[in-house]
This record gives sequence, structure tokens and C-alpha cells, in this order.
Amino acid sequence: MLEFLSIIYHQGKQYIPNVATVDLSPAFRGRPVILKDEVDYQLISVCPTGAIDLSPLRLDLGKCILCGECAHVRPDLIQFTSDYFLSVNERDKLIISHDNSESLQLNPEKIRKEIFKLYGRSLKLRQVSAGGDCSAEWELNACSNVNFDMGRFGIEFVASPRHADGMVVTGPISENMAKALEKTWESIPEPRVLILAGTDAISGGVFAQSEAINRTFLDSLPVDLYIPGNPPHPLTFINGILDLLSVPRNKRK
Ligand code: SF4
Repeated sequence: MLEFLSIIYHQGKQYIPNVATVDLSPAFRGRPVILKDEVDYQLISVCPTGAIDLSPLRLDLGKCILCGECAHVRPDLIQFTSDYFLSVNERDKLIISHDNSESLQLNPEKIRKEIFKLYGRSLKLRQVSAGGDCSAEWELNACSNVNFDMGRFGIEFVASPRHADGMVVTGPISENMAKALEKTWESIPEPRVLILAGTDAISGGVFAQSEAINRTFLDSLPVDLYIPGNPPHPLTFINGILDLLSVPRNKRK
């Protein structure tokens, strides 16, 4: 018994005390900043997903796979910070420009009132990998491990859409998964929350031009939360959902 207690004592706290106050390594590529506006066609040619526009210089975080090539060729124009608060609830807020390099946040006016009222203390999610490559799915799995411990906030993944309050989509939505995605969505009781997690889900990512993609499912649905990243970091995912649930940052422990 004493031996076990000694092990527990020496291991210390395994969980992150407050998920909103973690300092990630500078090597982590989070929110990009555009240091100045300049036309450089090299940026267009190195970007594999068409995330960069010129005149003015803009970077669409919903298309960006965070490969870092643009910052590598023009570090004087584009840099990546280790800021992991990347989620928004308006798609156009993911477009970063020189005049718009502030921290990303949700528009509280656009958060549906019933989300906080019904799900503020308990949110069950069905996750659907719609042609995903398992990278985003692995990170979402990590959200429930002992370090990130998303369950402490009442947020959990469930096995059936009938038990869920919302759906998290990962992957670019392949033709083969389009119908399954629609059926899963229809099986979730209202009011339901729709979350797109990862660049592939938000824009199709590197598969956006593929004929094997069918994203018509999203045409008529309001998206509650866009969580960028390729894949999204667990801290980005958890804090994005806590932002949606309006949980203050000092209470994220
Ligand atoms: S980091 Fe993003 S914007 Fe830059 S080249 Fe890669 S995909 Fe394009």
C-alpha cells in the first residue's frame, strides 16, 4: 500500500491544471501573423492549398495545413506564433491579414443561446471521420486522456448519435462518407451542435479539388464552431469548445 502511495506521490499531477494557460513550445505552429503587406508570388507557389492571397496579403487559416513553407521563404512577412486559441464561429474570421493579426475569438452574438443553457455543463459529441487520415482523430482521442482530461468539463465523445448533443466532423468529406454523415446528423436530437475540426473538415484541405469529395452536406447547415489545425491540437479543440460554452478562461481547470 505504502509503495503505491509513494508512486502516486512521485508521479504528481498528471493532468494539465488549467487548459487555457499552457505555454506551448515555440516550435508549435499556431496562429499566424502577417508582419507587413507585400506582394510576393513566391508565397502563392509554395502554398499547397491555396491558402494565401495577395493584394492585400492574406492567409486563410481554414485552408492552411500549417506546413510552414510560407514562413520559411519569407520570415519577414509571415510568422507562426504558438497561440493555440484558433477557434471561431464565423468562417471569414479565419482569414488573417496585416490589419487583422489579433487573437482569434468567437463572436458571442453568434453563439446560440440554447448551447450554453442546455450544454454548459454536459456536452456529448459524436465524432465522424469523413474521409479523414486519422491525424485529427488521434488528437481528438488525446483530448480524453489523463493529461488533457476533457471529461472534467463534461465534454465527452459518445458511441451513438442518438446519445449525442452534437457532431464533430473530421476529414474532407469524401463522397463515400457524405450520406453516412447526413444520416448521423439527422439521428442527433435537436438542438444539435455542428463542429468542423481540422483544415480538411473546414475547407477540404489538400483534397479540396478532388472529385472524390462531396461537401454539399455543409451547404445548408449553420456551423457552430470552426477549429483549425492540421491536425488541431487538443488544447485548440478543448478551448474552442469551452469558448462555445462560454466557460471563462480562469475556470478551465
Ligand atoms: S503554412 Fe499554410 S499558408 Fe503557409 S504555405 Fe503552408 S499551407 Fe500555405
